[in-house]
Amino acid sequence: MYGYHGKLLFINLSTGNIEIRPLKEEDARNFIGGPALGAKILYEEMPANADVFGEDSMVGFVTGPLNNNRALFGGRYTVVSKSPVTGGWNDANAGGYFGPMLKAAGFDAVFVNGISEKPVYVFVDEGRAEILDASDLWGLTVSETEAKIRAKHGEKINAALIGPGGENLSYFAAVINDGHRAAGRGGTGAVIGSKNLKAVVVRGNLSTEVADRKKLVAANKSISDNMKGAAAELATAFGRFGTGIFYIPSTLSSDASIKNWGGAAGIDYTEEEAYLVSSANLEQFVLKKYNCSNCPLACGAIMDVPSERWELANIDRPEYETMGAFGSQILNSDYESVLRCNLLCNEYGLDTISAGATVSWIVECYENGLFTKEELDGIEATWGNGDSIVALTELICKNEGIGQVLIKGTRYAADHLGKGHEYLVVASGIEEPQHDGRLAYGVTRTYQYDPTPGRHVKGGLGLAPSGPDFDYSDTGEADLQGVVGTEVLNSSGLCMFGNMVSPPDALLNLIEAVTGFQYSPEEFRKLGTRMFNIRHAFNIREGMTRKDFTLSKRFYESNPPYEGPIAGVKVDHERLADNFFETIGWDKETLIPSLSSLEELGGMEAVIADFYG
Ligand code: SF4
Repeated sequence: MYGYHGKLLFINLSTGNIEIRPLKEEDARNFIGGPALGAKILYEEMPANADVFGEDSMVGFVTGPLNNNRALFGGRYTVVSKSPVTGGWNDANAGGYFGPMLKAAGFDAVFVNGISEKPVYVFVDEGRAEILDASDLWGLTVSETEAKIRAKHGEKINAALIGPGGENLSYFAAVINDGHRAAGRGGTGAVIGSKNLKAVVVRGNLSTEVADRKKLVAANKSISDNMKGAAAELATAFGRFGTGIFYIPSTLSSDASIKNWGGAAGIDYTEEEAYLVSSANLEQFVLKKYNCSNCPLACGAIMDVPSERWELANIDRPEYETMGAFGSQILNSDYESVLRCNLLCNEYGLDTISAGATVSWIVECYENGLFTKEELDGIEATWGNGDSIVALTELICKNEGIGQVLIKGTRYAADHLGKGHEYLVVASGIEEPQHDGRLAYGVTRTYQYDPTPGRHVKGGLGLAPSGPDFDYSDTGEADLQGVVGTEVLNSSGLCMFGNMVSPPDALLNLIEAVTGFQYSPEEFRKLGTRMFNIRHAFNIREGMTRKDFTLSKRFYESNPPYEGPIAGVKVDHERLADNFFETIGWDKETLIPSLSSLEELGGMEAVIADFYG
């Protein structure tokens, strides 16, 4: 097989068993890699309704064929597991160098189940794997852990690891590699922590053969040319400012959350306030840029920020999502506090999107008298109070005080504390990323019914503002096309931002060049639809039906009296969903895909056997 080693590594931490199994060519062709291939494997290997923190629960680290094969922007890998938040499917991806290095270590994916009696890490070294003691790593932060691993195994390793957040079973515990690249969402870090697994460490120099080197060179050249041509402006700005390039316009348009999704863009949070947190202001502190594997954009930056309150030397520039989560969402223009929260989350291994949303929720609860200062460990949790935002984040990171409840996210906290449900803004319990469904209506369908709810990196109608003339009558086909493209993108290992500056045919050209698989337009559509369905099938097998995919009202209906760009908006999100279900072939209540749609897709035999006998 081109582009793959054809090897999957399975490790059982209860028994210590390590097994190498072949990756079937038909699975590679049908599911490519990343979340879709991960879902295919977990669907078959993990029993239905397994306890998310039990021995049968499985977590996977899955590469894409573009990893380590000289494809531009081909650096992303995916972690997969069941989610402790939704009780259903979870996948989350990250850039950096871990995915390519896992490939260089000789495997297309690593899957781990079982529970170790003591803390361990897995060391994968050029085709071999062993389980090693991690007692001296347990309790350490991300940078401390990585430093110790490097001291032992040398600088040529890479590691995907958890911080104390994962050890403490935070429902938004992330998996971090390269010190700052986070596969953050959905709580896979907690699943890893529940296994007493601290890290997967990889090392190697193995390569895979590319099917068509000339075609790969041509595809890479088309991307480079596009970055100098049609996408030059975006590429230049993106390389200079990172994802934070979007922060100011997003806060002004109502794309980003303002005041826990209850405020008015440009009024409650002004352009001047947004500027302080934005990449434009932070540019003065940038020391150097960094990139992921084989990326010519380098959207990451290290900064040195003078501060009398916190140590902010040699820190990462926050991503757009983090700026929104800890900035406009909490009416916070104190950029030092945003940077401090970003650093804390990276070090403790927590997802900044959910962490910021959780702080935002408790602030709104406090402002409305649901909690006293004493109940919040003496913290004056008011809007825009940078010191308080940091103090709350620190309690979450350290699992102390009110942080012991907040560490499991907003829905758990509201249920556990018995209040604040009216201020939740979640999709199936997952806190929302920084794109408002009341501005781009299709986001409501994506956030509500993607197999991983509440995700900004999943497909659908996209982020373009809908406007007053939005036509609900025929959205299903465009929605599905958006899903198909994003599914294939995420499974390939290509970076989404890289794809934004690439010509439209680059993704397929790269996949075909590396793997040698060819996909007609009809096969490409089936490929992406199959990927979506296999992730979805995991949820349906867990017993989830339409009523389990919930969306907070504040995400689809403006709150009276609301001002600003989305005043008076009420999105008919269930109609968008109906349109989508009709197009993809799902029953509108059970959400079970029709037999004919599954048969037409092919490669779904296990799903057909489960639902149709
Ligand atoms: S654009 Fe940014 S996230 Fe994407 S590969 Fe490059 S450095 Fe990584």
